[in-house]
Amino acid sequence: MKILISTPSAETAKQLRAILEPADHECIMPADNRKTVEDVYANSPDLIILDVALTRPSVYNMLAKIKAAPSTWDIPVLVIAPVRAVPSVKRCFSLGAYDYIYMPFFREAILARVRNISYVANKMKEFGKLLVRDYLTGLYNRKFFMERMLEEIAWADRYGEPLSFIILDIDHFKKINDTYGHSCGDEVLKELARVLTGMLRAHDVLARYGGEEFVVLLSNTVHDDAFAIGEKLRAGVEESEFNCDDKGNRLPVTISVGVATTEISHDISYAALIKQADEALYQAKAAGRNKVCAAGRA
Ligand code: GH3
Ligand code: MG
Ligand code: MG
Repeated sequence: MKILISTPSAETAKQLRAILEPADHECIMPADNRKTVEDVYANSPDLIILDVALTRPSVYNMLAKIKAAPSTWDIPVLVIAPVRAVPSVKRCFSLGAYDYIYMPFFREAILARVRNISYVANKMKEFGKLLVRDYLTGLYNRKFFMERMLEEIAWADRYGEPLSFIILDIDHFKKINDTYGHSCGDEVLKELARVLTGMLRAHDVLARYGGEEFVVLLSNTVHDDAFAIGEKLRAGVEESEFNCDDKGNRLPVTISVGVATTEISHDISYAALIKQADEALYQAKAAGRNKVCAAGRA
């Protein structure tokens, strides 16, 4: 863990470092305690250890700032205090401190606290990932995508920017499942997620929308560019190799793509964008599959 330690006592700093560094923790010590909060912003540590003896600014002042900033409020803060400092510890708790350790501390107490905090933090991270990611492909899930789309629509509306939406669906995917088995189908979905990710820009939002349907949100993207991206995805998938065994049997995986853009629809609602892209996808399927169709474009 990356641990930022702020204490007015050089001796305490030395002791903490001697306990934490051999246990593979990285210790950050502000050169000047007055810069503690700035160092927290700059380093985004996993844990902060503050000494209640800090003054100018006080430990309370630092805690209040750390707990108020959106980027740092959830970093756990461990307070170290002498046994007689119960009122100070109480005040730190009221300001959002996570836990405390009395001085003089001993190695096992520090390491156990750090281990427990690290365990909870990792679980929270995993949990957060589960909420927004699709289990099979690791892409964003539909819930996350919908929330993000509402935010992007609000932004596009406010600043008059075009917003494009792509929906794509694997052609005759049922046949792949029926011929090669469901686990092969799963492998195809995972590989397709990798192929699509590789062709998109980092700020494009790609998600698994349903079984073999994927969606892409392209912010500040005009209709022609969105169509070109749809075509790039279609061609890229057609050229990519998909196989489920080591015999090199290449599976014929293609996708059909529907594109919609606010620029064309003049209707910036969520429902309208999805409906238009869905209709375009339907057209692509009807036109023989492995095609890109766009709403409002012949
Ligand atoms: P079309 O070209 O019209 O899209 O035909 P299709 O066969 O792809 O479409 P259809 O909707 O008939 O079948 C989709 C199939 O996708 C059926 C379903 O069993 C399969 N599927 C959905 N989710 C998963 C999954 O997570 N893993 C696997 N292996 N298959 C899935
Ligand atoms: Mg489908
Ligand atoms: Mg399909």
